[in-house]
Amino acid sequence: MEDTPRSNRLHIAFFGRTNSGKSTLLNTLAGQAVSIVSAVSGTTTDPVYRSMELLPIGPVVLIDTAGLDDRTGLGELRTEKTREVARKTDLAVLVVSSKTEDFSEEAEYLKLLQEHKVKIICAVNLMDGGTAPKLPFDIPTIALDARVPAEMADFKKFLIDNADTDFEIPSLTAHLVKPGALVMLVMPQDIQAPKGRLILPQVQITRDLLDHRCRVLSVVPDGIQPMLDCLSQLPDLVITDSQVFPLVNQIIPKEVPLTSFSVLLSENKGDIQSFLEGARAIDSLAPGDKVLIMESCTHHPLDGDIARQKLPSWLEQYVGGKLQVDVFSGQGFPDNIRDYRLILHCGGCMLNRKNLLSKISEAQKYNVPITNFGIAIAYINGMMKRICW
Ligand code: SF4
Repeated sequence: MEDTPRSNRLHIAFFGRTNSGKSTLLNTLAGQAVSIVSAVSGTTTDPVYRSMELLPIGPVVLIDTAGLDDRTGLGELRTEKTREVARKTDLAVLVVSSKTEDFSEEAEYLKLLQEHKVKIICAVNLMDGGTAPKLPFDIPTIALDARVPAEMADFKKFLIDNADTDFEIPSLTAHLVKPGALVMLVMPQDIQAPKGRLILPQVQITRDLLDHRCRVLSVVPDGIQPMLDCLSQLPDLVITDSQVFPLVNQIIPKEVPLTSFSVLLSENKGDIQSFLEGARAIDSLAPGDKVLIMESCTHHPLDGDIARQKLPSWLEQYVGGKLQVDVFSGQGFPDNIRDYRLILHCGGCMLNRKNLLSKISEAQKYNVPITNFGIAIAYINGMMKRICW
């Protein structure tokens, strides 16, 4: 059950003021103590994630959030994390205590979630045998006692009825190759590659190709020509790490379709048309402009780091002068994005589709072009007509 990466699960998040019963409801639903439940305000600090199967939807992740009304010392940090969860939420459950009389906090949640185009449903938690108050908003609502396991069958049905049951992560490669196709993967195992394992985009694409009954060959860049020499046919598709796009482009015959892990992820999770338009903004960059490079996970940067060294250096060569490049690591979004002339985002393998789409739409709200690493590298190297997605 834990084998599906979180990024491929439907994200169901529980929002609501502190002590409305969010954690209790999530715990009763999950059938075990996932979040710390107590009567002390602000007990849920960082969002708590719990993966489970919710049939017929399939793999989901339940997320417990801190209340926006958290007034404790760490409250601002916590509420920022709650806002971050809103970006990635596919279905939001607004938990309202039956004791609530003033719904101004709930209005704040609705505003936040609507800004991020999240589908919202409401669970009124009947505290101490109370009755459901008349709500000043019109969204699908269920009334229940969050502590009672017997009420969870109805609550699950309520979730399923309101979730997008067609939720499915599209194949990364099925639109490019037929079953039986021969696909070459070019995966540099250099100093930046983690010891003893492949990175998630390589694993996901290999699995996707195998599911699609393709024949998969894996090589490092030095192995491309020797592999071509011993094959009796050309590959039907080559998928490379974007960092070696120019080298692979030189070696692979022009009639073989070529793409990269990052480009396929941006097609799968993001909005590739926005990324293609964003890449064109590279032409209007001038020395001194501010560029934001975003990586969705944190790691210790090594020599030749793509975000901190290679991409800035390639961009500066293209632009013909120094740029002001900032690197942001993590799943959030810095609050000064309007200061930048361009955003370059990583493949986002750790993000769910909703999160990447929210980031694209936030960038567009401030008229900041956004593209992704692979597309930017192809653009800089004049390869846009060469690559496929
Ligand atoms: S989330 Fe981004 S930085 Fe992290 S491994 Fe995936 S593509 Fe690389």
